[in-house]
Amino acid sequence: MNIQSILIIGGGLAGFTVAQNLRSRGYAGRLDIIDPAGIPYDRPPLSKGYLLGDKDAAGIELAPAAWFTEYRVGLVRATVRALELEPLGVELEDGQRLHADRLVLATGGSARPLPIRGGDLGSVLVLRNKEDADRLRTKIVPGTRLVIVGAGLIGAEVASSALALGAEVTLVDPVDPPLVPAVGPELARRLHAMHGDAGITVIHGTPVGIARTQGGHRLEMADGQVVDCDEVLVGIGIIPNTELAQAAGLETDNGVLVDTNQRTSHPGVFAVGDMARTRNADGTLLRRGEHWEHAMNTGATAAAALLEQELPVHGASWFWSDRHGTHVEGVGDMNAEGTTILRMNDGEPVAAFRIAADGRMLGAAAIDGGLTIRAARRIIDKGIIVQPVSLADPGVPLKKLAR
Ligand SMILES: Cc1cc2nc3c(=O)[nH]c(=O)nc-3n(C[C@H](O)[C@H](O)[C@H](O)COP(=O)(O)OP(=O)(O)OC[C@H]3O[C@@H](n4cnc5c(N)ncnc54)[C@H](O)[C@@H]3O)c2cc1C
Repeated sequence: MNIQSILIIGGGLAGFTVAQNLRSRGYAGRLDIIDPAGIPYDRPPLSKGYLLGDKDAAGIELAPAAWFTEYRVGLVRATVRALELEPLGVELEDGQRLHADRLVLATGGSARPLPIRGGDLGSVLVLRNKEDADRLRTKIVPGTRLVIVGAGLIGAEVASSALALGAEVTLVDPVDPPLVPAVGPELARRLHAMHGDAGITVIHGTPVGIARTQGGHRLEMADGQVVDCDEVLVGIGIIPNTELAQAAGLETDNGVLVDTNQRTSHPGVFAVGDMARTRNADGTLLRRGEHWEHAMNTGATAAAALLEQELPVHGASWFWSDRHGTHVEGVGDMNAEGTTILRMNDGEPVAAFRIAADGRMLGAAAIDGGLTIRAARRIIDKGIIVQPVSLADPGVPLKKLAR
């Protein structure tokens, strides 16, 4: 079928990437992105530069307004209320209906609510979008007593930024240390210790309730401890926004299920980014990706598939995070079955490599080691076998081993 119109629902990084790739691949038909936020913007700075005030709203836009005019990508500033499969289209919140030859779902995820008493209080902060960040910026001033529940990637980043803004930060997590699946236990321990070293109060425990106090909040812990504070921020992950797809009868399972073309259970509907989950041809479900590069990769794949062009090849999955002036990167799967080889420097682990029984590298993570991770990715993607002794040696640049 000659596709003449495509509607993208959700203008985050994944939706924007679909539009960008459709145009760069030669698609000349009608193309619109529907999102209440208007011009698509990048989310990683929300917990870093934007929160710190180093970047403004224009500085995080994925493209300037002129780009959308030049490439004839319409921005429909609205929220989709329902999907329609026969004929393909959407219903907006104001009742307006839009139709297209193909739909792309790119609705991302919502902050996972803390399932405890008071977890649903309207005053409990989360960080998923620019409005959340703006709210946070007004709340975090020097001296604000901020409790953050969840010390994973976003919780740790906000903790670091809030500290830099002069807040008194308490970081609470039942897992000690968090992030082991992403970076392995050794690097996770070192990263978590940075919070205490920087002056953050770290509590290892389980919250059971949040209550309002006069002008503030009180966090109640399972062991009876209470933490009085001004503000509470919850950062315990996301729930994929699958409601539209579910209501329309598309297959979902902790994400909208897609094949390796990003095609959902309806042949005319594709899904990308944080809300999409791949089901392989043999029925196995992959872990849903929730990272920046994953949003770009799935967007690029969907664009190629929509135009029936050859699919791009992507390397092992990659993410980064920043905290306390430190840059963390991970590639592949640090949680895969295997053994870990550590690279140490001055008695501290600086990189960890997950190695399968047959010697292949499965995953790698590094602190302030971007070049190491770039080389590790090549080693993983090419299946290069590297001697463990060389991996462990900080004097051997990984780039040399990736040839
Ligand atoms: C604070 C923060 C920091 C991050 N830092 C990092 C990092 O350092 N490294 C990293 O690798 N990743 C990071 N990420 C993750 C990365 O930003 C996400 O994986 C990526 O943004 C996902 O893109 P997406 O387009 O799938 O979803 P989103 O960016 O969430 O976009 C979804 C869009 O869909 C829209 N939408 C939802 N429902 C509807 C509807 N019914 N109608 C119309 N529009 C709708 C929303 O308004 C939103 O704009 C971070 C995320 C956040 C929130």
